[in-house]
Amino acid sequence: MMTIRGLNAGYGGLDALVDVSMDVETGKLVTVAGPNGAGKSTLFKVLSGIVPARAGCIEFDGINLLGIKPSDRARLGIAHVPEGWQVFKSMTVLENLEMGALIRPDRKSWKHDLKRIYELFPILAERRGQLAGTLSGGQQQMVAIGRGLASAPRLLLLDEPSMGLAPALIDTVFERIGRIHAETALTIMLVEQRATEALELCNYGYVLESGRVVAAGSRSDLLKNPRVQAAYLGI
Ligand code: ATP
Repeated sequence: MMTIRGLNAGYGGLDALVDVSMDVETGKLVTVAGPNGAGKSTLFKVLSGIVPARAGCIEFDGINLLGIKPSDRARLGIAHVPEGWQVFKSMTVLENLEMGALIRPDRKSWKHDLKRIYELFPILAERRGQLAGTLSGGQQQMVAIGRGLASAPRLLLLDEPSMGLAPALIDTVFERIGRIHAETALTIMLVEQRATEALELCNYGYVLESGRVVAAGSRSDLLKNPRVQAAYLGI
């Protein structure tokens, strides 16, 4: 579905991504793990067009993604759920989900998909009329993921969905991401500092450090990789 080759991006004199190459196959869950400041969020920002690439190419379903205006990337089916529960706080839960649905190509299946989102996150159904800003952090994260799903994406980018959540909620969020992937076969890229949980979920993963890919492989390869075990899995 997507190939990234020789990608470079940064801010002023700083190189945040250096010669990054990745492959994302349709229907797979691809994890990008790595420490703080590794360039994970920058990668997603380049994909959604918030940060320009300095070099390299990205092909998304045969299209040169870097040649597409950022405002048109969402219409291609790329849904970016940024880190930090970015919801419309003064809108209700349902209004937030409807905002996500505005760009869907197919309005007819919206009711059906909304029901699915409520099945995945029953608390959102219960709180559908409540202002999103009054929800707990975990619930706001669910709204943010739900809004991404509402756009009927072909590629869902989830940036640090566990960030700032209480430990019990972190497990729930990872479990729901696994369920979304298992039940919908949606292609998902998951960026996480919590490498253990995120690599456990993936079909394929990459580890970024200081903007460079330092390890790549299937879930089992990465979980067996001594470097990954030592640095991220506490083994
Ligand atoms: P985190 O988990 O902390 O978000 P990350 O892996 O997502 O880390 P990025 O946010 O992509 O990392 O940051 C990569 C590098 O780029 C870091 O050195 C960071 O300080 C720097 N950086 C990120 N955003 C900006 C910005 N807007 N201006 C300048 N430097 C930035």
